[in-house]
Amino acid sequence: MITRFAPSPTGPLHLGHAYSAMFAHDMAKAASGTFLLRIEDIDGSRARPAWEEQVYNDLRWLGLSWPEPVMRQSERLPIYREALQKLWDQWLLFPCDCSRRDIQEGASAPQEGAPAYGPDGLIYPGTCKSKPRPEAMPDAALRLDMGKAARDVSYLETCPAPQTRKTSSETFVSSIGDVVLARRDMGTSYHLSVVIDDAAQGVTDVVRGADLAEATPIHVLLQKLLDLPTPSYHHHRLIRDGAGRRLAKRDDARAIRKYREEGATPADIRQMVGLPAV
Ligand code: GLU
Repeated sequence: MITRFAPSPTGPLHLGHAYSAMFAHDMAKAASGTFLLRIEDIDGSRARPAWEEQVYNDLRWLGLSWPEPVMRQSERLPIYREALQKLWDQWLLFPCDCSRRDIQEGASAPQEGAPAYGPDGLIYPGTCKSKPRPEAMPDAALRLDMGKAARDVSYLETCPAPQTRKTSSETFVSSIGDVVLARRDMGTSYHLSVVIDDAAQGVTDVVRGADLAEATPIHVLLQKLLDLPTPSYHHHRLIRDGAGRRLAKRDDARAIRKYREEGATPADIRQMVGLPAV
């Protein structure tokens, strides 16, 4: 068994991250497997070396260990590009230069009915899909043509991600839509990178929060399109604050660092998130 924790170094780790990381670490340990750490730093405008340092520091303090060197997504852009090229060559991608506003306007046009939302926000109204395609894959934002990509999803019925089994081709089109696989400023996207890297690292069990469960069908579909294995997915409950809201990076109040400064021990953190003592 290989599990992983894959934080984006864009802010302090909080109790929710601690839970996710320890959950994945415990699971690998119980099966005499391996726990991996991966730094998801493709968003150069938000990722900071200082946050990355804090990730290592907090996780070590929690008692976690992982093999080195750690995979960092910012070092793998050519690999993501190669996968995009493969999809481009199958006519599954199209360039898109829509702004957020264009998408909003397109999605609320009278003929579209009520705007629908998917895992990445508004479902793309298809504005750029019918434009003539350049010969070579451009250095632009690229979207997956979901109508073509999800034509045959019968394999989902037996895949090891239960939440995707009922996702029909139609659902992919109507409730997920033409997702972005390469952002213009990054040359890749969360969905593409996460799928390629889980496969590259041989991850057998993806452990992550329930907030990412709706991204799982997209990931399973990409695995199919790119001929990659599908791991088992475990989506755990979310750690909430006193008011029942899920924790976000901006919730500095729940930052692990803050608890450390206040004298909490790793055992206290385990107890706070409801994990058994080790
Ligand atoms: N990097 C993602 C995040 O910090 C998690 C990716 C995943 O677990 O699939 O939210």
